[in-house]
Amino acid sequence: MKTNILGFPRIGENRELKKATENFWNGKINQDCLYKTAKEIKISNWIFLKNAGIDFIPSNDFSFYDQILDMCLTVGAIPERYNSLKCNILELYFAMAHGYQKNGIDLIAMEMTKWFDTNYHYIVPEFYINQKFSLFFNKPLNDFLEAKQNEIITKPVLIGPISFLLLGKVKGDSFNRINLIDDLLNVYFEIFKSLENHGCEYIQIDEPFLCTNLDDDIKELYLNVFKKIKQNTKLNIILTTYFDGLNENTELAYKLNTYAIHIDLVRAPQQLDLLLASISPNSILSLGIVDGRNIWKNDFNKSLNIIKKVKEKIGDNRIIISSSCSLLHVPINLDNEHNTNVLTHEIKRWLAFAKQKVEEIVTLNNLVGDNKNKISIEKLAKNNEDCENRKISKLIHNQDVINRVNNVSPKGYKRTSEYCQRAKIQKKELNLPLFPTTTIGSFPQTKDIREIRLKFKKNEISTEEYNILIKNEIRNVIEFQEQIGIDVLVHGEFERNDMVEYFGEQLDGFTFTQNGWVQSYGSRCVKPPIIYGDVSRSKPMTIDWIKYAQSLTKKYVKGMLTGPVTILQWTFVRNDQPREITCKQIALAIRDEVTDLEKAGIKIIQIDEPAIREGLPIRNEYKNEYLKWAVDCFKLASSSVKDKTQIHTHMCYSEFNDIIENIAKMDADVITIECSRSQMELLDAFGKFKYPNEIGPGVYDIHSPRVPSVDEIENLIFKASKVLDINKIWINPDCGLKTRGWSETELSLKNMVEATKKLRKKFDIK
Ligand code: GLN
Ligand code: ZN
Repeated sequence: MKTNILGFPRIGENRELKKATENFWNGKINQDCLYKTAKEIKISNWIFLKNAGIDFIPSNDFSFYDQILDMCLTVGAIPERYNSLKCNILELYFAMAHGYQKNGIDLIAMEMTKWFDTNYHYIVPEFYINQKFSLFFNKPLNDFLEAKQNEIITKPVLIGPISFLLLGKVKGDSFNRINLIDDLLNVYFEIFKSLENHGCEYIQIDEPFLCTNLDDDIKELYLNVFKKIKQNTKLNIILTTYFDGLNENTELAYKLNTYAIHIDLVRAPQQLDLLLASISPNSILSLGIVDGRNIWKNDFNKSLNIIKKVKEKIGDNRIIISSSCSLLHVPINLDNEHNTNVLTHEIKRWLAFAKQKVEEIVTLNNLVGDNKNKISIEKLAKNNEDCENRKISKLIHNQDVINRVNNVSPKGYKRTSEYCQRAKIQKKELNLPLFPTTTIGSFPQTKDIREIRLKFKKNEISTEEYNILIKNEIRNVIEFQEQIGIDVLVHGEFERNDMVEYFGEQLDGFTFTQNGWVQSYGSRCVKPPIIYGDVSRSKPMTIDWIKYAQSLTKKYVKGMLTGPVTILQWTFVRNDQPREITCKQIALAIRDEVTDLEKAGIKIIQIDEPAIREGLPIRNEYKNEYLKWAVDCFKLASSSVKDKTQIHTHMCYSEFNDIIENIAKMDADVITIECSRSQMELLDAFGKFKYPNEIGPGVYDIHSPRVPSVDEIENLIFKASKVLDINKIWINPDCGLKTRGWSETELSLKNMVEATKKLRKKFDIK
């Protein structure tokens, strides 16, 4: 048997890459310095994996920003607009990642979207009708050689050619991007040849789309492409799939005739039987058995049973033991967690981060193979104890919460009246102008504000002092919004570090890490909370701040909450009960908060669900089930209020076109939604479907410091008025403003209000 991982986190154990990259962007360090940091991370990862005993050590899994962007550069898929840049490759790369505004040049970034159902974002390749590929930058080879210089022979990781095309988007004149395959393949062959020439033997080709429902032409394409690959290379290909099962594509996968097939047995354990039933005599299976998406310790007994089952069928020299997917999605090292007040000893013994997972893979291998030594037997015994402890721990199980979830009645999911009824009542109650203006919640989180929170956390300032400082910020931001003439105000979210963490910290059943960072996109990392037990709310979480903000103004201040699905999606969720149940528990906790906000006199409550789309399973057969409970959970959280209380939701970062009907089913009175980056494409969908409730299509992109002009915004609103009922349009930026600076925020919002006023005049009302 052999051991494998599909990729290792690249941010560095102390986020060295993030810091170096941002310092480079800010001109604080030069390019050599950044490369040096990258090299140190790569080499220390390789050495760790080698010493741990991993046979298939990945390379080319490192990236300065994103591995799909890397591949764009490798195969020369560089959009034409960047041709005008006279700069080196790293600058070009970052320009593609996040745009370029310098020396009078203004180039927009490539689009970014979620990586399947994870919270990782990749850069979307752009394909044009006259698209040509060529080997622009042979990063797979460079990384292979870099490891080789350090006496480590690696297995380069590449996104497969079909998945690469499917992940991308056609821009400009439309055509079938699949037609690009032959040209693209030639570049792959060149890469393969160069790797072969330098002594590479194994390569990992990721084709996650094999875990989706494929059309016949794509199936055909797979057969053709892998036939050609086989003819053009002697490299042993580990055909890699993850995030779901091969299921009906099992036979197809075998027909591709690669050296080995990797399957995700954490996400889709049911696929194994079919794989074993139709296994061909030489196939090697890489069993993705150690969870690359979650932080729980592997249950060795369970895993050993699976491995033994496979071993009986095919013998142990055709088995590879592996992580289920890249370890990119988990924090690096549990040993860096020292705060036992938060992450207690008991909880810590249930967990494993990337480094611990690598050790688990090696131990499992030892336990099945001939190396069964005293140490691995001891590890097995310890593992059994830890797993047993988790099953019965009093920290986890709370009967009251379980009962409450079981006893929710159908009425719990419904507002009193239908939307059209509520809308009339709300119009009267709220009396807002045509095109009401609002923002999404957060205002710039300046250094000062972060310092205030940090000092409070470290007990360097008292609660009284902290409250005064935050209230000061709230007062300023309310004043600002009134001054520039926004209609529905927000309190600014200054007390929140992160929209999920803030709630997690106040809910039972959650815990936190000190250093459990995971890459989200580019240099941005998140530290997801951990839900280990039944979730409940013991006291109000936001009321005092919102009440204070409301006391300062006659205009309405929105209550701001994070929705249950987003909280679920952005945390490490327990794996000992269905996600649906955990989500319902969170929904009930949020419901309590909604009820309290209404009692406190708040008339508009926003429940953010930016992550609802990313939880969508990648296989169609599971989508409806997910959407059903996700929508239900939102409704459970939001429907305790009276008709006159207006519920908003907010979504961003995804394409919502395909789930629009489900978004409508959430039945929020108003939805504010990101859509400036894809030029209001989304609006078409909302127009066509005749979205029934009110909608605020984001009129400017907050992900860039660029200030939109009055004309530009006016234009967008005008476009929106063509497809939507003008009485149902809200005007707002496309997301929260916390990553922005004050100067551009001020200008942008002023322009937004100005544009709205001009349009109100045009429509000749108020
Ligand atoms: N209310 C949140 C904010 O404004 C929403 C963030 C988000 O959608 N990602 O920051
Ligand atoms: Zn948003």
